[in-house]
Amino acid sequence: MQRNEDGGIVISCDFCGTDWDEVKPMIEGHRGSVLCLECLKLARPKLAPSDTAFECRLCIQEKPAGTMSWSGTAIGGAPAARVCKPCVEQATRAFTKEGLEV
Ligand SMILES: [Zn+2]
Ligand SMILES: [Zn+2]
Repeated sequence: MQRNEDGGIVISCDFCGTDWDEVKPMIEGHRGSVLCLECLKLARPKLAPSDTAFECRLCIQEKPAGTMSWSGTAIGGAPAARVCKPCVEQATRAFTKEGLEV
């Protein structure tokens, strides 16, 4: 996600809130959403069916309850962002292509 701070735009991971330092590997989704490599590493072994319907933060598609997905940390009182399995797989391919260990 993006926020304004001291007149500049700060980009941070939607799933853990870590600010992007322009070095950390991150994947951009729709509407300025961001998933960092550390969250992807957490998400991959923990994909599970969701209890409720949700909108995937990266592909912004509505997903029904029971969709394999992973939820990040709630940041600043907002509900935790959830990412669907296809997005996790796509991010995995993208990071792998960049030569990163996922
Ligand atoms: Zn993250
Ligand atoms: Zn998705």
